[in-house]
Amino acid sequence: MIEHKSLYVDGQWVPTDSTDSVEVIEAATEESIGWAPLGNRRDIGRAVESARHALDDGPWGRMGATERASLLLGFADELEARADDTATLVSRENGMPITLSRVANGSAPAATLRMYANLVADAEIEDVRASQRGSTIVRREPVGVVGAITPWNSPQTLAVMKIAPALAMGCTVVLKPSPETSLDAFVFGEAASAAGIPGGVLNIVPGDRDAGAALVSHPSVDKIAFTGSTVAGRAIGAECGRLIRPCTLELGGKSASIVLDDADLDVFVAGLPDSSFRNNGQICALQSRILAPRSRYDEIVDAVADHARNLVIGNPLDPTVTCGPMVSAVHRSRVLAHIDGARSGGAVLVTGGGRPADQERGWFVEPTVFAGVSNSDPIAREEVFGPVIVVIPYDGDDDAVRIANDSNYGLGGSVWTQDETRGLEIARRVRTGSFGINYYTLDPGAPFGGMKDSGLGRELGPEALEAYTEYKSIYASDHWLHKQ
Ligand code: NAD
Repeated sequence: MIEHKSLYVDGQWVPTDSTDSVEVIEAATEESIGWAPLGNRRDIGRAVESARHALDDGPWGRMGATERASLLLGFADELEARADDTATLVSRENGMPITLSRVANGSAPAATLRMYANLVADAEIEDVRASQRGSTIVRREPVGVVGAITPWNSPQTLAVMKIAPALAMGCTVVLKPSPETSLDAFVFGEAASAAGIPGGVLNIVPGDRDAGAALVSHPSVDKIAFTGSTVAGRAIGAECGRLIRPCTLELGGKSASIVLDDADLDVFVAGLPDSSFRNNGQICALQSRILAPRSRYDEIVDAVADHARNLVIGNPLDPTVTCGPMVSAVHRSRVLAHIDGARSGGAVLVTGGGRPADQERGWFVEPTVFAGVSNSDPIAREEVFGPVIVVIPYDGDDDAVRIANDSNYGLGGSVWTQDETRGLEIARRVRTGSFGINYYTLDPGAPFGGMKDSGLGRELGPEALEAYTEYKSIYASDHWLHKQ
């Protein structure tokens, strides 16, 4: 049992002001893993003020990028030293298969920190440009105190996608993780403390949506970085608009895989674990709509259904398991309700459709494939966030692109073809933030994010540093500058 009683604020483990706590339950066994406090509005306030102080008055705000980068490399080493335990803990919390968790929650956070530390280590923060009256110094300054709010589905990756570029740019951060995955968030505090990251630079306050809302509207916060549902993102974006506060919103998706008529189905099926079934379907950019040419429709439905039937359902800590449980009983009910809705709406259930008979405990859902679905059906439009796939027929490449784009979302997608030039043409026409040709695997070196209801702004890649940067132009004289 893991029992946390304090929050990580100002570099210290401090008692919470709240009496609320959350019991984190293991998704595969329904047994308790431990407890974490749920911070309230006052806890959020203390954490924000500590982040403010560290930025305005502490060493962090005055530190050069090289020194900051060196501290972040130490932070990465400390995370890496804890990687195996962190990966296991997250798999128990949210059901992520351990082979994936070892990367997503084990090695990726340290790698992401190193990437941003190296990007800023030697970067110039000022450049000088000739102007009509003299010279202008263009400065890149940290945007300030960042409120980072994260979901449960890949908690370490999604948190570090905010923490790493923010700290590298010289910002300070208050992280509010999801209650379901509160326990692993404490690892960031332990690692930051061991690496000597100054107090207040990174603060961690687990809490519910009220704590999140308190962070969004706190007057001393300068920017919000949010990953989660479109419903919550819309509310957060509205509040940030009212406050004229920049925000990055990484939201939901209902992406499409377009299988072209010349596709090699072996390649397509080999790609399905990453493109459509990753993390038991609990990944935002997964392609839960598969668009199949009418001439090969039955063949493709059979191939997807066979793949779904062959997934190994079980405890995610078993490395042979390829489909773990849903994060919670509540989420399983939501996924099952989507399945029931599709069945009663007339979709043809090809495989799955319920709870696996051989799993007595745990919040499992059978990998499920529907055929006979139209793109206007709710099951083709709403995000399910579980192992539920619909196969939709199309007639010709233009029709496939039209259907792919006929979605409120615009996050991921892929095309499967033996002609990469044709695939690239399709990739250019689909309105999503990322798109794969014959595979779909996120590239941390390139920007990631959504169009339309899938969000605002980009994370990852060098581009993510922009979201944590304010520009300042200082108009100076040539005479003075030449003397420097
Ligand atoms: P959620 O929106 O319910 O919660 C996400 C986080 O926001 C949690 O920490 C929650 O406590 C907090 N929160 C909820 N409402 C809030 C509000 N009004 N104000 C402030 N904070 C609030 O989402 P979830 O169920 O935890 O996660 C699943 C969703 O996340 C899916 O829709 C998925 O597509 C999305 N997601 C998107 C990406 C991406 O990069 N685009 C990545 C992962 C997950």
